[in-house]
This record gives sequence, structure tokens and C-alpha cells, in this order.
Amino acid sequence: MKYDEIKPFINYCMSDLLKHKRAISIVRSSFIALPAYTCQSDIEKPLQVNGFYDGETRQFGIAIGKPIKNWFPILVHEYCHFLQDLEKFAPFKKLECTNFPDFDRWINGYEEYSDWDMKEVFQVTQEVEWDCERRVMEMIETHNLPIDREQYAQEANAYLMFYKAALKHRKWYTKEPYRVKSICNRLPKTLMSLSQISKPPKWFMDSVKRNCFS
Ligand SMILES: [Zn+2]
Repeated sequence: MKYDEIKPFINYCMSDLLKHKRAISIVRSSFIALPAYTCQSDIEKPLQVNGFYDGETRQFGIAIGKPIKNWFPILVHEYCHFLQDLEKFAPFKKLECTNFPDFDRWINGYEEYSDWDMKEVFQVTQEVEWDCERRVMEMIETHNLPIDREQYAQEANAYLMFYKAALKHRKWYTKEPYRVKSICNRLPKTLMSLSQISKPPKWFMDSVKRNCFS
């Protein structure tokens, strides 16, 4: 993947974000810190991520320190979260509500929620991420982006199903499930349905446990 190939699409995304008054942070390191407001006390450190779109502070961020083939699909993914925000996609808006449980804060042990709340936040989060990946797949098609559709679908399926493992072990990955070849290779080459990703097969759960947590 060469920068020239994706430049027109990146310009298109950036102008769209600016047109809608979103702030853009692009950093030349491997990770970018989530906006500081996500921390609610001094002991919390902002999470380091590959990219983010934050509806509350209207910020888009991407780390471009890794090879283009690593960060470009993430840029497309985060841009699709922005589109969800713009279209006022109900599940996305729900996650933004301050009184709605926060999956990341629970994962990091900063917050405790009832089983009922956890069930709901898990469902809504998976729905938002699934809808986002559906949009990415569509965007690859309409803008003829230089991303392998079948490989991307396998990686997206791995990412989406990972949420179930995160819920089970109350841990985020240290190794991205979508970078584990033995996992991706066994997954469908088209995007799985929302009901399929909510019930990962046993081999997937076992393999994630072995490969993705330190
Ligand atoms: Zn996402």
C-alpha cells in the first residue's frame, strides 16, 4: 500500500471532518492517547490506542507511526464512527450518554456494574462496532480502497468476536486478535452477522485466551 493510492481518500475524510468542525490529531508515533477527559481520577492513565473517534469531544485521532497497511484500515474504521455520530445512529448515541455504563472503564477496573448493565453495554458496544465494520466494508467497495476485502472481513470478524472474550476475562488484548493469523484464517471471508459475532465458537475463545492476553 502506497501513500499516493490512499491520499485522495484521506483528503476526503479530513475535509469532511473539518467541514463538520471535528478536531483532528495525527501523531507520528505508534500509539495515540485517548482524550484526557475519559479519565475520572488522577490514578487513571489515558488509554494508548491505534486511533479513536470521540463523539463527546468531537475529536478524531490516528497514530501513523506504523506501516500504512496497519493504520489506514483503522483510519477508515474511526472515520466510520464519525459517520455514525453524524447520522445520530441510536446505539452510538447511547454509548455516549454519561450515565450509560462504560465498557473500557469496567475492563480497566475503574468501575463496577451489575450483570444486567454489563449485558446491555456489551450488546450495544458490539452493535456499534459491527455497524462500523459494515460501513468500512461498504467504503472499501465504493471508494475502491486498496484493502483486501476478504482479509479485512476475517480481521473484522476476529475483532468483533473478541468483545465476548474481553467480557469473559475482563481484560483487553495485549496482542490484537486480528493480527493472529491462525485465528483470522479460520474465519469467514465476509462479515459475519451480528448474532454470529455475539456467540463466538469455542475454538475462538480458546485461541484468544492463548494468544491475545499476556
Ligand atoms: Zn470501533
